Amino acid sequence: METTLDHISETLQAQGQPRYRINQVRTAWFTQPNWDSVTTLSKQLRQDLAQQFSWLSFPTVKVFNSPKDSTQKAIITLADGQKVETVNMPNSRDTRTVCVSSQVGCGMGCTFCATGTMGLKRNLTVDEIVDQVRYWRWQASDVPITNVVFMGMGEPLANSDAVKQAINILINDCEIGKTRIVLSTVAFPGSLKRLVLDADFPDVRLAISLHAGTDETRGKIVPSHKRQTIQQIKEGIEAYLAARHNRRHHVTLEYVMLLDVNDMPTEAEALAKTFKHLSHQIKVNLIPWNQTDANLQRSSEQHMIVFQDILEQAGIPTTIRYSKGLDISAACGQLVVKPLS
Ligand code: SF4
Repeated sequence: METTLDHISETLQAQGQPRYRINQVRTAWFTQPNWDSVTTLSKQLRQDLAQQFSWLSFPTVKVFNSPKDSTQKAIITLADGQKVETVNMPNSRDTRTVCVSSQVGCGMGCTFCATGTMGLKRNLTVDEIVDQVRYWRWQASDVPITNVVFMGMGEPLANSDAVKQAINILINDCEIGKTRIVLSTVAFPGSLKRLVLDADFPDVRLAISLHAGTDETRGKIVPSHKRQTIQQIKEGIEAYLAARHNRRHHVTLEYVMLLDVNDMPTEAEALAKTFKHLSHQIKVNLIPWNQTDANLQRSSEQHMIVFQDILEQAGIPTTIRYSKGLDISAACGQLVVKPLS
């Protein structure tokens, strides 16, 4: 899967340009905002390259700023007119986390997720994934991006070849550490097994979109679960941890809290029973559901606290995580691009 940068390198090589010239372009590609800024190259060479290669793989970006918490959301129009969203969130210590999309829409159809209502339109290319980070890098160049989370639109493991290559580029060229990249997956049947067997897939942190303690409940809200069991997901997590675990590396179970759907104590008890023995290697994030068009309600504070208590009593570290960017529909599960929006 060749990227624009590969094509640029091939072009420069074919022109007989020295190796250091190719390295200059590679360095600038991840630090500069456009061809004009690549002043290490002659003006003529810059102009020639600009005529052949767009600096970004997408032509249009519309940015929305949250006045409440400095979160920014960008709606990106891709070269074929499809749209995806990416979010740039401030961290506590003058750094930023970028949330990237890996597909246009998503075929997994989780009932609580706005993206799931779009269906899958297509996979993103390596360039289209990496360029979300490149774009935010120079949008606010004074605050470094230290973390990248694959929690935007799409199921990353359903586009795993492009996602794997994009992650390797983020690690090697954007200097984002492996343990600062989180891949969030619904763990559809077979996906964790393939991930564990793929030795080239970087050992990033995993977040499993679990959202239920029992198969019956998960099957109702995560349609892709119908052909597997939570037991099998647990085995996949154990295999991933056995293959990739180190002290800074843990797996997060994501759990969106839906009133009277999955927030009952029985679900927490089932979850605790299944994952108790992994309590030193996993943690649970309880995520208050963010409003979409779905006919669902967020759990009450009281339900969430009871749920948290049950897990903590089983020794499983559990936090209640409120999303950023709610006021601009940039929060977890809210990313959706309506046709012609
Ligand atoms: S939660 Fe993730 S896997 Fe499920 S529909 Fe939304 S984007 Fe797809």
